[in-house]
Amino acid sequence: MDPISSSHVLIFPLPLQGPIKCMLKLSECLCLAGLEVTFLNTVHYHHRLLSCTDIQSHFARYPRFRFETIADGLTEDNPRTADLVMELFDGLEAMTKPLFREMLTSGSLSSESRRPVTCIIADAMLIFALDVAEQVGIPLFYFDTISPCGLWTYFCLPKLIDAGELPFKGNDLDAPIKSVQGMEGFLRQRDLPSFCRASDLTDYQLKFAVMEIQQVPRARGLILNTFKELDEPFLSQMRSLCPNLYPIGPIHTHLKTRLNAEPTLPPPSSTSLWQEDQSCMIWLNAQPFKSVIYISIGSLSTMTSDQLMEFWHGLVNSGHRFLWVRRPNSIVGENRVGPIPKELLEATKERGCIVSWAPQEDVLAHPAVGGFLTHTGWNSTLESMVEGVPMLCWPSFVDQHVNSRFVSEVWKLGIDMKDTCDRVVIEKMVKDLMDVRRDEFLQSAERLAKLAKQSVSESGSSFCNLKCLIEDIIRLM
Ligand code: UDP
Repeated sequence: MDPISSSHVLIFPLPLQGPIKCMLKLSECLCLAGLEVTFLNTVHYHHRLLSCTDIQSHFARYPRFRFETIADGLTEDNPRTADLVMELFDGLEAMTKPLFREMLTSGSLSSESRRPVTCIIADAMLIFALDVAEQVGIPLFYFDTISPCGLWTYFCLPKLIDAGELPFKGNDLDAPIKSVQGMEGFLRQRDLPSFCRASDLTDYQLKFAVMEIQQVPRARGLILNTFKELDEPFLSQMRSLCPNLYPIGPIHTHLKTRLNAEPTLPPPSSTSLWQEDQSCMIWLNAQPFKSVIYISIGSLSTMTSDQLMEFWHGLVNSGHRFLWVRRPNSIVGENRVGPIPKELLEATKERGCIVSWAPQEDVLAHPAVGGFLTHTGWNSTLESMVEGVPMLCWPSFVDQHVNSRFVSEVWKLGIDMKDTCDRVVIEKMVKDLMDVRRDEFLQSAERLAKLAKQSVSESGSSFCNLKCLIEDIIRLM
């Protein structure tokens, strides 16, 4: 039998918005290459995905694609906010792991018309997936959807601990960190992943991150959502630990680029777990060129009601137009927000637009958008980079603190506002981003946007790495 038609890839994302989106994009790239793909989603998230998007009919055009679901052991209050996310891992370990093993050993994923699974691509945080894959003898590739600069700090955690840099000594978060190879002295304590601020080494997230990176090199390969031209220094360091490295990003751009070359392909489908409010696109159409700052803190981060008011005053006082995503349940203590001052309500009516979820990629690509106040989740950072939109960074957890340092100091794409939430500072930084330093940021943003797009176009680095990944998957037959 021809090896393409014999290959059957099982894709298993972490059940969270960012990883699900990355894995759906990768799945579609594999479908376009003719591979058989099963996408394994947890039950709650799958229902949300189906109710918020037309993803099922979008994938119906690929006869060799199929969705499967598996339980995650959690109650229905999903998606959860960042503070509850570690419960997800307990649920996955207790409930999903045995079901996953059963699924692979029973052969329930194959049938007369479907070949047995020949390869698994799982999120790198699904530590148990590799154990199960090894037990059943199926090769597994990990896809780590966080940033490579963030991931590299995970790889250096054991060194940081050995060198006594973790847990932090003293209270000076500006103290330089020496044990992250390639970033010596450049990263400060405050720029390390959020869980490094834990007071002792028994912190769950810290221990989990160490376990994750110890596991990764055992996989057949490591897929990353970046492009060589952006992250080569870390990629070459990581290659010494994981020789089969596939930097194939920005993953969301492959299909768009292909669509430009082959207009008969269907436009990309939404992958949102919340209903996208398209009214903001109509609002954007009425705004002048690069006049709007877009604000979103992603799918997991939250802010307090006090922080909400600081942001609101800062934005209004900057005088700029704004499009603000306020995700349901993203304001902690929302019911404690007192009466909103009249000047905020009037200014918002005049030059603001608030939605509960936006079609973010379209928003960032809109000519009216001139800046992005972001939590620097890796997907948001890449999406902004591809569209050449400068960023004001307010990181919240995991890799985001590393990302915001790179956005401001290495890629020169914006300003890092971490650990600050004050209306006067916000007003000044919005003005700096949108007016005072705009040309400086736009210059770097345009250069990196061009490199990102080149990387996924024919013969670009990510295009070739994706091709290589597909060839390696087919060769496993
Ligand atoms: N997103 C969206 N609409 C919104 C806010 C976010 O479509 O209103 C998408 C965004 O395009 C990105 C993802 O949600 O792809 C968030 O992923 P990211 O890695 O930036 O952050 P996380 O949610 O994982 O913290």
